[in-house]
Amino acid sequence: MKFDLKADFPLSGSAVSIKKEIDEFFSDYDKNVLNRGPSQKRAKITWSLCGEDLYKLHIVSGSNNRAHNHLPRIKKAWNIKIGKKYHVSGGKGTKIEKYKIEFELEKESLKEITIPFAEVKLKGKQATIILKDVTEEFLRRNYIDRMINLVREKVENQYYEGKGEFWKPIWQSPEKKPMWSKDPTEEMIKLGWIKQGPTKGKWFYRPQAVAILKAMEEIAIKEVLKPLGFQEIIASHVVPFDIWLKTGHLEGMPGEFYYVAEPVTRDVEKWQRFIDLMKITKDVSFDELNKNLSTPQAGICYAQCPVIYWSFKGKTIAEKSLPVLVYDNTANSCRYESGGRHGIERVDEFHRIEPIYIGTREQLLDIRGKLLERYQHVFNDILDIEWRMAWVTPWYMKQAGKIGDTIKQDTGTIDFEAYMPYRGSRRDSEWLEFQNLSILGDKYIKAFNIKAQKSELWSGCSGIGLERWASAFLAQKGLDPNKWPPRFKKHLKELPEGIEFL
Ligand code: ATP
Ligand code: ZN
Ligand code: MG
Repeated sequence: MKFDLKADFPLSGSAVSIKKEIDEFFSDYDKNVLNRGPSQKRAKITWSLCGEDLYKLHIVSGSNNRAHNHLPRIKKAWNIKIGKKYHVSGGKGTKIEKYKIEFELEKESLKEITIPFAEVKLKGKQATIILKDVTEEFLRRNYIDRMINLVREKVENQYYEGKGEFWKPIWQSPEKKPMWSKDPTEEMIKLGWIKQGPTKGKWFYRPQAVAILKAMEEIAIKEVLKPLGFQEIIASHVVPFDIWLKTGHLEGMPGEFYYVAEPVTRDVEKWQRFIDLMKITKDVSFDELNKNLSTPQAGICYAQCPVIYWSFKGKTIAEKSLPVLVYDNTANSCRYESGGRHGIERVDEFHRIEPIYIGTREQLLDIRGKLLERYQHVFNDILDIEWRMAWVTPWYMKQAGKIGDTIKQDTGTIDFEAYMPYRGSRRDSEWLEFQNLSILGDKYIKAFNIKAQKSELWSGCSGIGLERWASAFLAQKGLDPNKWPPRFKKHLKELPEGIEFL
């Protein structure tokens, strides 16, 4: 690594009469601060006076002694040695004219990349970033290290692009003969059980469909969560950005959120023109609306776990409360699925139960085992569906570069997938992920600074998508309750009559 920095170091007065002392000051800094210790720690400074009151500095350093870290130190030393004595302070408004950073990549870059604030040049394994006209504030904020990491991450990701998700089968149920091969969404629309919602990817569920979703909910709670001791909590649907910044969701999928904008004010006066325009035009004036809306600082729930982790932020959990087993069954999840939307399977607004667990590694491996057992009981004995489980790599592990076989099976995500007969053959069609189960190590524990009295904590969560459970079940079992498995019918004795339309 090589850091090559050219900076303007302004003085508050003329340097001409004290040039000798200043030269001494810089050579002293060069000799006693920069040029000390092992070779990889050494750096070099050169300086030249430009006019009367500006020094041009040039600092070149290796990885362990970053050039930019010296600017505040030089300023401090200057003001002790020169400033006080000769009444010429230095370094106020220091400007970085050019900063060139060269570093080695783990793998050769496959194509050009760009990052904000700097020009990036890649040649084989060699990366160079060049910054121009940077303020001291910028350097203080640790942006440089993050920019270097971003370049590394982008090059690393070039090797995974288009490779598809990591997917490793774990278990598969026996084949089960489907009752039909129709798309349940289409058929439920025809029967009037559901209706396409007022906006994209949303649905209006009528009593028959609600009864099915409620049966799924009851099964999840009574057959999985309650027997394992999970307690219900209620999380907020509105997630402020600082929470998603901590979990990484905001950098992971900014294009999938539904953003929430607060009004600037509730002062009726300020809204008057908006109201008047509406009264006349019977339409919404978006120009007028925009004046009264603030920029979003939050989004609608994407998954419940971030807010649940936030609720433990900075807390020390008593040993006797471990493992913490809680679930949210209230917050709807919204995701902008765009071109991927399909039926009630891939929607922009869905109903999900999310259990989360916090405890020691052993406790979490134990709870995973128990959850898997209960889930198997539900899908084999109650829903009686054809399904399978596979290890997959979620984006946040990908980000960390822990991909492929290097994934430790203590942590990671298991996807549960169901065969969807209407999509084609078992072999060639895409199965539907209807839920997942993760152990995420200490990622979120660290992010929210959650502690125990003595134990090292890990956490994990599982997303039970009610629309997905229902889709998987109905795609295999059809819409005729007489053909549904008897143990499922214990949770849904009969379908409500619904509403007849003329
Ligand atoms: P997919 O790969 O299908 O988009 P995902 O990996 O984005 O799913 P997760 O973030 O892991 O999904 O969410 C966990 C669970 O939430 C899924 O297993 C599923 O049950 C449910 N879910 C996610 N997205 C949707 C959606 N658009 N519509 C309905 N349910 C969903
Ligand atoms: Zn989660
Ligand atoms: Mg998704």
